[in-house]
Amino acid sequence: MALNSVKEVDVLIVGAGPTGLALAVDLARRGVPALVAERAPRLFPGSRGKGIQPRTLEVLDDLGVIDPVLAAGGPAPVGMLWADGVRQGEHRMFDEPETTEAAPYSGPWLLPQWRTQEILYARLTELGGAVAFDTEVTGLDQDAAGVTARLADGSAVRAAYAVAADGGRSAVRRALGVGMTGETVDPKPFLVADIRVREGALDRDNWHIFPPSGDTGLTAVCPLPGTPDFQLTARFTDGSAPDTSPDGVRKAVAARTHLAAEDVTEVRWASDFRPRAALADRFRAGRVFLAGDAAHVHSPAGGQGLNTSVQDAYNLGWKLGLVLRHGAPDALLDTYEEERLPNAARMLDLSTRIHRGQARRGAATRQLGLEYQDSSLSLDTRPPLPEGGVRAGDRAPDGRLATGRRVFDAFRGPHFTLLAVGTQPELPSFEADLVHVHRADALDGYGEGLFLVRPDGYVGWAGRGGTDPRGNPQEDLQKYLTSTKLEVLRSWS
Ligand SMILES: Cc1cc2nc3c(=O)[nH]c(=O)nc-3n(C[C@H](O)[C@H](O)[C@H](O)COP(=O)(O)OP(=O)(O)OC[C@H]3O[C@@H](n4cnc5c(N)ncnc54)[C@H](O)[C@@H]3O)c2cc1C
Repeated sequence: MALNSVKEVDVLIVGAGPTGLALAVDLARRGVPALVAERAPRLFPGSRGKGIQPRTLEVLDDLGVIDPVLAAGGPAPVGMLWADGVRQGEHRMFDEPETTEAAPYSGPWLLPQWRTQEILYARLTELGGAVAFDTEVTGLDQDAAGVTARLADGSAVRAAYAVAADGGRSAVRRALGVGMTGETVDPKPFLVADIRVREGALDRDNWHIFPPSGDTGLTAVCPLPGTPDFQLTARFTDGSAPDTSPDGVRKAVAARTHLAAEDVTEVRWASDFRPRAALADRFRAGRVFLAGDAAHVHSPAGGQGLNTSVQDAYNLGWKLGLVLRHGAPDALLDTYEEERLPNAARMLDLSTRIHRGQARRGAATRQLGLEYQDSSLSLDTRPPLPEGGVRAGDRAPDGRLATGRRVFDAFRGPHFTLLAVGTQPELPSFEADLVHVHRADALDGYGEGLFLVRPDGYVGWAGRGGTDPRGNPQEDLQKYLTSTKLEVLRSWS
């Protein structure tokens, strides 16, 4: 439905990809009115970003969609190398460490991108949100009080803030004049397609890999859990451009695998891409934020793009919520770029090295070690800091509270959490809907102390407990809240 008049909202989200949908869900549960403007008439239909990393599973758990995500997906199958129609042996692309109490999700968890988007969209609808399809943003102006976006139908939207979640070719980024610096990761183009094959033509227990041979580049055919589909990716090394028509896809399969063209019974979606790595020069321009592929594009190798994109949204959502609903200063929003731009730069470097065979998929691609230790929102007031323990800026691990409840269950929702681990100090009172307080006798990795965990699951402040004679939680917390502009959390005077 196209918009026909000037509409006023708190946040305009441009694009209903994984980034826009994740942000819309997060804002909806915070009661922040947002409009998601999507150019296309429906959600994206392809399987593109199909590998969900453990850290993103934790995010999806917090956003309330982990059950459908786990039900619809499956673990990545073991690779199977083929030559001349004969299996050559297994090839393990990922080591999947056991899950632990501190890290309950393993991965990557395979789920076609269209399904992830469907699940996020269903959650958004459940929370009372919506997407305005057939609604293209064509331009944007901003002033001190807000942003005015022009739509293709001639109408406009006025918002306090706007978020460009409109993908790698972001029209909003261009309208803002924000540059994107990068390089071609691979000069060779790729074909990517969702296909169905004749029953029995290819098993669904393996990720089938057909190594380069002669003029044909690397080809992979991966079963997509929860669907009868396979994702085909094929690198074109002979100088030709990928043909994305159904016939072109069938020809590519026949030329590169032991399957015949007729074995491909359906081509459900096909596209081509040339891997690039590029980073926007800024993630914030006035009242507009860049997130997801609009801010960074990666090689698909290592499965980082969608994951990094959803985590951008997750970093921005709670900050917008605090500013728009609770009166936190606008300067809090500067920490979005401060935290996410260096993180995206590291991801870019990692996926480029994986694409070029210079790095392996491993702990870094699982994204559980991402941290914001250098952020202005991270403060540790525990001298000396424990070796190897959780520090301010680190992801707060899962575990068990004194009540037996899971830590992640206590985190779930839009609030901060103050964890008192192995200590019973008198705690200051907070704004009850903004900070929940919990105690644990001991938590693996945390050590003794107080941990103020942000809504996105990172430790903002870590301080000494009340049994430490040098500890004065109230003073230390006050210092933290003042220096980070988070005083809205405080209810004491
Ligand atoms: C072959 C392939 C495999 C991949 N595999 C992985 C993987 O395993 N793991 C991973 O993490 N990532 C992977 N990725 C990357 C992943 O697909 C992207 O990072 C992800 O889609 C980014 O989401 P986004 O919401 O930022 O942008 P997009 O998904 O591009 O969504 C942008 C949306 O904005 C809309 N839009 C654009 N312009 C406008 C406008 N002017 N007005 C309104 N709406 C607009 C578009 O229609 C679109 O719906 C892969 C990518 C490819 C190509």
